[in-house]
Amino acid sequence: MSRKEKRKAMKKMKRKQTRKELALKEQELINMEQEEAKRSVSVRIMFEERERAWTEAMEIRKQKRIEHEEEERRNKALEDEELSRKQQIKNANDDGEDDWEYVEEGPAEIIWKENEVLVKKKRVKVPKRNKDQQSIKEDSDRPTSNPLPPQSEAFDDYKNASLSAQQLIETVAEQVPHFGTEQDKDHCTFHLKTGACRFGQHCSRVHFYPDKSCTLLIKNMYNGPGLTWKQDEGLEVC
Ligand SMILES: [Zn+2]
Repeated sequence: MSRKEKRKAMKKMKRKQTRKELALKEQELINMEQEEAKRSVSVRIMFEERERAWTEAMEIRKQKRIEHEEEERRNKALEDEELSRKQQIKNANDDGEDDWEYVEEGPAEIIWKENEVLVKKKRVKVPKRNKDQQSIKEDSDRPTSNPLPPQSEAFDDYKNASLSAQQLIETVAEQVPHFGTEQDKDHCTFHLKTGACRFGQHCSRVHFYPDKSCTLLIKNMYNGPGLTWKQDEGLEVC
């Protein structure tokens, strides 16, 4: 091999070497870049994870705070309720036994017990104030008469009459010879004696109504078995 050829070969080798080195450097650079990219990706992922964890933690804390507040509010409401209930009980006790009492009310319940008859009345708790009001209403001078119902025809007669019922009867008794006897066909003897007549308003004879009466007659109050058996003999009150 000549010197020239030798140099040529040397140069070629050098170029080859340089190329090789260049390629190596390039590869290294690429590797570095790749690594850098990987690192940045992992850093980003780490950051994102940290961020997510923080957000979640904040969310949980917020939730807990809301729950806590909710519970406090509930407890407060319960306490208030309890307090008002206690206050109510206290109030009820305060005026309870003084202002309330038991009174018998309604129809009596009749209980047959072997040879005994028990009469039991329903007891009702009423405020005493009501009783006071009632006793005020029922004054001792209240009328005890059984006045005529305003809608009855007899009431109009009574209102227009100048004489009182007693005076009217006395006057009529003086004028009519057989007043109040079987021979008196104009005046209802039965009504005169008992104050009641089965024919009532439709009686063909005159009924005298008293101004006052110590007996209170209430129509259809008595509904005993005797009335249902013999209906046409039932006493009609007028
Ligand atoms: Zn009659």
